[in-house]
Amino acid sequence: MRVFDRSAANNSEQNLVVLAGCHSRGRPGRRRPPQIAFHDLRRDETNLERRVGHDGDVLLSPDEPSPVGLEGRGGRSPFVIVCDHAGRLLPRSLGTLGLTEDELGRHIAWDIGAGAVARRLAGALDGCVVWQRYSRLVIDCNRPIGAIDSIVTRSERTVIPANLSLPPREATVRAKEIFEPYHDAIRRTLDFREALGRPTILVAMHTFTPTYLDTPRPWHVGVLYNRDARLAERVLPLLREGELVVGDNKPYAATVLTDFSIVHHGERRALPHVELEVRQDLVADEEGQSAWADRLAGVLTAAVRGSPMLALAKSPVR
Ligand SMILES: [Zn+2]
Repeated sequence: MRVFDRSAANNSEQNLVVLAGCHSRGRPGRRRPPQIAFHDLRRDETNLERRVGHDGDVLLSPDEPSPVGLEGRGGRSPFVIVCDHAGRLLPRSLGTLGLTEDELGRHIAWDIGAGAVARRLAGALDGCVVWQRYSRLVIDCNRPIGAIDSIVTRSERTVIPANLSLPPREATVRAKEIFEPYHDAIRRTLDFREALGRPTILVAMHTFTPTYLDTPRPWHVGVLYNRDARLAERVLPLLREGELVVGDNKPYAATVLTDFSIVHHGERRALPHVELEVRQDLVADEEGQSAWADRLAGVLTAAVRGSPMLALAKSPVR
């Protein structure tokens, strides 16, 4: 089933995008000043769809949706929401990965409810949202390329037949056509804001299954961070003001091996950031998604109000 279609992303307005070549990484002293040009992201997405891998291998056909969804570039708030596991599309060339429709509808394929919450949250905050439309069983966009669970062969108790003995060349094509365009879109969004001197606070939106390997999870929401807890330390007490069971780096602790987005885009740029995980049964329908988007918008707004967070967000250091 296709969760999102391209029409949503095509609602994006004419956008400013930082041109390629102006954001070399890891050598701050040698960075050239950014060049800015008017650019239509829709045209950019079309180009990404036509990327091919090494040796002419193609994962996505031109008529298949772009992996990247993006809304709200013109949003006035500092918040940029990213959602790595928003979709469960499968490239036609991969068939069903050897799985049944029932298995592909489960949490192993995507973060149920996360994409809807992320988009509603960005709307409530007047922020920007970038989401990824293909199943994490194709490639996990929240893992470093080459990590042991970048392309999983087993998720919980389910074996992923198409991922067994995957030739490295095919793994590379998945990275080039899904992982890279998605993270390039996030990087360009952050570069664009930095070039204009706009503050940015990064929020990674995820959801987790209520039960994992038969063990119930008591938390309603988890607040995750790795080495930079500036925003998490403000969000945690605000979420705990109510009746919620709030996980501090639970149900998972963020690490450099398991959480690519906040580490790569948040920590490396020294942007204030947090990863949020909501339990999936709470956001399985529109009512829950709306309620959680409103709750999280209120908490995030309160977390940065009157804090030095915004000043820090204005001057990212790499
Ligand atoms: Zn996730």
